[in-house]
Amino acid sequence: MNKRIIVAIDGPAGAGKSTLAKRLAKRLGCLYIDTGAMYRAVALWAARTGTPITDHARLERLAVEAEIALGQDGLVTLNGEDVSAAIRAPEMSESASVISGVPGVRRALVAKQQEMGRETSAVMEGRDIGTVVFPEAAVKIYLDATVDVRAWRRVRDLAARGGVPVFEEVRADIVKRDLRDSTRPDSPLRQAPDAILLDSSELDELQTEEAMLRIVRERTSNGKEILS
Ligand code: C5P
Repeated sequence: MNKRIIVAIDGPAGAGKSTLAKRLAKRLGCLYIDTGAMYRAVALWAARTGTPITDHARLERLAVEAEIALGQDGLVTLNGEDVSAAIRAPEMSESASVISGVPGVRRALVAKQQEMGRETSAVMEGRDIGTVVFPEAAVKIYLDATVDVRAWRRVRDLAARGGVPVFEEVRADIVKRDLRDSTRPDSPLRQAPDAILLDSSELDELQTEEAMLRIVRERTSNGKEILS
C-alpha cells in the first residue's frame, strides 16, 4: 500500500457495519477502526463513575482522558482494561447513543479518530465518518438495510452471545436509537452527499463484502493502491 486511503462506512444500528468493515479492512490489508466502540467505552466509564448525563463538562473530560485502544480482532481496552464484552451490553448501546449527543464528547472522540487515521490507511465505521471525521475520505459507503432485517440480525448476534432477545424489543430499541442518532443537532447520522448507498437487506455477508470491494475499486484512482 503506497497511498493512504480512508474508507468511511456510516449507517444506522444493525446494518452490519462492524462485521463488514472488519472483513473489508482484512481484505484491503489496512486498519479497522470501530468508532462506536469508543462512544460505548466512554458511556461505560460514565456509568462506572456515576457521571450524570446532564454533567456535560465531566463527560467531556472523561472522553478527553479515556485511553481507548482498538485491536483488530474486536478487542477494546479502556485505560488498559479489556472492556470488549462490557461495552456490548444492551444498556451500553442506549447510553452510548445518549452521551454521543454531547458536543464535548463528540469533539474529544472525533479528535482521537482523526489522529488514528492521520498516517495510515483505514476502514473506519460509525455515524459521522464521511460527514465530519474524514469528509475528504476517498471512499464513502452508507450501509443500510430495512429495520426488520437489522433487528433480526441484532437478535441473532445477541442470541449467539448467550442472550435471550425478544424481536419486538430489539426492533423498538433500534428505531429509538436511529431516531436519536439522526435527529441530534451535532453531527446527526446522515448519508454524505458523495457516499454510495449500499442496501444489504437482500445480500448475505459475502455479497455485501464483494459489493463494498467493487465500490472501493471504483472510487480509488487505481484499485491497486490498496488492493493487491
Ligand atoms: O456503532 P455502535 O452501535 O456501536 O454505536 C453506539 C452508539 O454510538 C450509536 O448509537 C451512536 O449514538 C454513537 N456513535 C456516534 N458516532 C459514531 C459512532 C457511534 O454517535 N461515529
